[in-house]
Amino acid sequence: MVDDVLIVVVTRFMKNAHILIVGAGIGGLTAALALQRVGHKVSVFETAPQLGEVGAGLTISPNATHALEYVGLGPYMAEHGDRPETGASVHYQTGEVLYYTQRDSEFRVKFGAEYYQIHRADVHGALADAVRANDAGAIHLNHTFKSFSQSGGKVTATFSNGQNFTGDAMVGCDGVRSVVRAELFGAQDPRFTGQVAFRGLVDADPVREHIVPTPSSTALGPGRIFTRYFVRNRKLVNFVGIARTDAWKEEGWSISATVDEMLSVYGDFNEHTRAIIKSTPPGRLFKWGLFDRDPLAQWTKGRVTLLGDAAHAMLPFLGMGAAMGLEDGAIMGRCFEAASTIEEALSRYEAARKERTTMVLLNSRKQAGLYQSDNPASMRGQSSGETRLGLFNYNVNTVPI
Ligand SMILES: Cc1cc2nc3c(=O)[nH]c(=O)nc-3n(C[C@H](O)[C@H](O)[C@H](O)COP(=O)(O)OP(=O)(O)OC[C@H]3O[C@@H](n4cnc5c(N)ncnc54)[C@H](O)[C@@H]3O)c2cc1C
Repeated sequence: MVDDVLIVVVTRFMKNAHILIVGAGIGGLTAALALQRVGHKVSVFETAPQLGEVGAGLTISPNATHALEYVGLGPYMAEHGDRPETGASVHYQTGEVLYYTQRDSEFRVKFGAEYYQIHRADVHGALADAVRANDAGAIHLNHTFKSFSQSGGKVTATFSNGQNFTGDAMVGCDGVRSVVRAELFGAQDPRFTGQVAFRGLVDADPVREHIVPTPSSTALGPGRIFTRYFVRNRKLVNFVGIARTDAWKEEGWSISATVDEMLSVYGDFNEHTRAIIKSTPPGRLFKWGLFDRDPLAQWTKGRVTLLGDAAHAMLPFLGMGAAMGLEDGAIMGRCFEAASTIEEALSRYEAARKERTTMVLLNSRKQAGLYQSDNPASMRGQSSGETRLGLFNYNVNTVPI
């Protein structure tokens, strides 16, 4: 007779899987670091001949900070991120403050993490350094992904330089024009959103008197917004102007723009905005068309999935595109840690991430209409879209997976 039956449940956690990651942007590198952290080997393939980020500034909201902390970059952010205690949204002509956004100590306690603004290249470089510190040969440059095949529990990726690599799973982190997404679900061009972005980086000293009323600020005008904030220990000012436009024919992320061209769009904005634009040195002003995508019904097939802009490219009106990729990466790490098979890990990852990213994507479109309203004064007394939607209340360490 058996008095006690001891049931021992043995769960076989995965270790040492080999994951192929296509794209070494912020999303791909975060996923790589998160997967290394939980005991897997990653090979990251990047089409560019060298690493570097286009674009200048990045807002890292508390939900994104949690993800960076998950992959071990908390101390880096504390040292290099700028912490604006207060932000202001102002009327584009009068400069009247329509509403403030508080990012003070109370805010930090509420969300359990800091709100940072930082040069994109700094975060990107720190992620790449951390991946390489774990495995010096993890990042393969000059590798343009072409196609893949799956069989026998393996994925083989083929690159345009003729090389093939085989792993246990593959993650497409190759951005808004993802080839992995096209291979998975058929080619479909991203949607031109009717918006063009100008971005510039200027020395802070000559324009310090124009940094009013707060270190971080957005001017709201009809069909146009202008956001600016400090990066690099307040030595540089990053700005982004996003304007509605009827036509956009040029391709690329770094098309040079001139001060006159930007002023032809922002000429009726207040003197502070114009002064900052005018101070941009040649070669530091760029423009590009903004594209997004409709949400996908499914991200994964077999052992191949998508992450970051490849899965959910969105407009920047909530400042959440990179944040979503950071969250994706951290959640992918947790899912691989908790699952006993690759299929289970990918299925948990997709289930955990699809609803939130779809919500943020769709609200980023809606937010354009609010921020670029024909009557900016209607925003008086409102709050930022991220606050209204509660987007900071997401902690990658504790959300169910
Ligand atoms: C004006 C503007 C302001 C923004 N501000 C913010 C902000 O403040 N906060 C925020 O969170 N987000 C912001 N975003 C969004 C953010 O920039 C993006 O969502 C984020 O950079 C996407 O990261 P990713 O790694 O998914 O894709 P990407 O950064 O596009 O990286 C994809 C990588 O894949 C590589 N690649 C592409 N094709 C291939 C291939 N076939 N083979 C191999 N490699 C390939 C590319 O070279 C690239 O390195 C902003 C966006 C814009 C347009």
